[in-house]
Amino acid sequence: MWGKGLIEGMRVTWKHFWGKKETVYYPEEKLPMTERFRGGHLVLDEKKCIGCKLCAMGCPNAAIEVTVEVDENKKRHPVKYVHDLGRCLYCDLCIEACPSKCISWDKNYEAASYFKEDMKYDAVAECRGREKQ
Ligand code: SF4
Ligand code: SF4
Repeated sequence: MWGKGLIEGMRVTWKHFWGKKETVYYPEEKLPMTERFRGGHLVLDEKKCIGCKLCAMGCPNAAIEVTVEVDENKKRHPVKYVHDLGRCLYCDLCIEACPSKCISWDKNYEAASYFKEDMKYDAVAECRGREKQ
């Protein structure tokens, strides 16, 4: 029938025009990322970290560098935890390897940068900054 496609198209348009909006006004509005989303920076819980470096050892692309200090009670603490986003494959092996479950993703999907140096950041400094706030 002539015009059948047009009518069908109008029906779909009409339905979606009044239905729930699927789009957001990015960047003013942002969608929350799903629970299993891998991306952004690694968030470290410094208090739970035992400085074992298993995350760095498990990383296939050497994207993590952990500097550890041993206190008077022979306990290991991270003093620097550098994650290089430029090298990261977002494979999640570091998170799986961590026995203390003290690293996770911040789910920030806007971590891109024009400069290579900006891709490295210290998760210990970030953790201390969060605690001060
Ligand atoms: S997600 Fe993979 S590549 Fe990235 S830091 Fe962790 S282990 Fe390394
Ligand atoms: S594997 Fe976990 S506990 Fe061990 S150094 Fe890495 S973040 Fe810390």
